[in-house]
Amino acid sequence: MDLRIKRWGAGYAVFDGSKRLTAELSRYEIAEHRKDKISAERKQQRRPCLCCTEMFMSEGAHNRLCKSCRQRDVEPAHCSVARGSRKASLS
Ligand SMILES: [Zn+2]
Repeated sequence: MDLRIKRWGAGYAVFDGSKRLTAELSRYEIAEHRKDKISAERKQQRRPCLCCTEMFMSEGAHNRLCKSCRQRDVEPAHCSVARGSRKASLS
């Protein structure tokens, strides 16, 4: 990952190498904010859900269940595989 803020037009833009990722931004602070957001999004990874094994965008190592399985959390019988580790991380 090599995100950089460079001058673009009359303002700034966020670049990944030579690829421009944002529109022209009027202020450096705005570009910096966008850069942080983009790099946070990139930390997310596709992981298989521990419950249904479907691929989903994980927010990090703590996040191993897909959205629909997390919503079903009230009925743990649906997720026999993940039950042990999930309970531990919740307490
Ligand atoms: Zn799932």
